[in-house]
Amino acid sequence: MELRKDPITRSWVITGDDVSEPTPRTGECPFCSASQSLQVVTTLAGFDGNPWSARAVVHPEALYRIEGEPARRADGLYDKMGSVGAHEILLENPRHDGHIWNASDTEVEQFLRLVAQRIQDLKRDSRFKYVSIFKDYGRSAGQEFDHPNSQLTATTFVPRRVLYELRAGKDYFENKERCVFCDILAQEERQQVRMLEIRGDYAAFGPYAPRVPYEVWILPRSHESSFERTGLSRTVNLADLGALLRRTLKRIRTITEAFHLVLHTSPNSHHQSGSLGYWKTLDDDYHWHIEILPILEAKAKSYTFKEVYYSPLTSETAVKRLREAKI
Ligand SMILES: [Zn+2]
Ligand SMILES: [Zn+2]
Ligand SMILES: [Zn+2]
Repeated sequence: MELRKDPITRSWVITGDDVSEPTPRTGECPFCSASQSLQVVTTLAGFDGNPWSARAVVHPEALYRIEGEPARRADGLYDKMGSVGAHEILLENPRHDGHIWNASDTEVEQFLRLVAQRIQDLKRDSRFKYVSIFKDYGRSAGQEFDHPNSQLTATTFVPRRVLYELRAGKDYFENKERCVFCDILAQEERQQVRMLEIRGDYAAFGPYAPRVPYEVWILPRSHESSFERTGLSRTVNLADLGALLRRTLKRIRTITEAFHLVLHTSPNSHHQSGSLGYWKTLDDDYHWHIEILPILEAKAKSYTFKEVYYSPLTSETAVKRLREAKI
């Protein structure tokens, strides 16, 4: 596998002809059975008689490899580099049916702690510019394993969507000396038309310009650029975030089963990138958040139509339905 940069959009893509054949799946869940040889990265202690609570393992068919240097080089006018990075599976629960929406608040909290630990640990590696966390649930979302899991990638570049956010956050801050995410949240709390639920220091709302119907964002109400700082702080109440995440997914599941979820945190500031120049105000102008993008089979047009997003439902209407959902 290698990384190539599109010279027009400046986004990196991962490509290669050496994709390993997926290992045939036996009936057994590789994450439940002890017989499977998993490369465990880290495990959080269990409670209530469980041997563990949340755990990170190396993806059995990892797209990114931890060894080596990215060796960025030119190919004529093009740029390419090796697919150095990390690709892990974050097991959310030891129970095979322990999904976020039916887990206890403590279980979700443990999983969030694992996420924070993995991000912090990988950011110590100055080769990596960004650590992404995402979850694909449901067949149409490209879910890979049945066991409740999210995935992590650490990459030598910042993914395009995050770059857009960083640039926009920096521009807004330069003009107004305020965080755009804090301003959005303040307006949503004031207007109460797209606000889904507030729980302690966290808020869930439908974005003003949704990419898909029922898109929901979750943000901390106090400004913070890095999720891992929130997740590892002793003074922060992560149970509120866990509960809000659980309740929001439960609401969305009354509409559709499949969804994508991404966590956007600040990039790695150990990796100083002169060309981007957002590092000086990064902690003031970026604000971590979770984006949930439900997949509605019947409305498939809304996400295959990729050049301009089309959502046949406003967030005002979507949030009204989600608020009223019986959960
Ligand atoms: Zn399992
Ligand atoms: Zn903010
Ligand atoms: Zn984002």
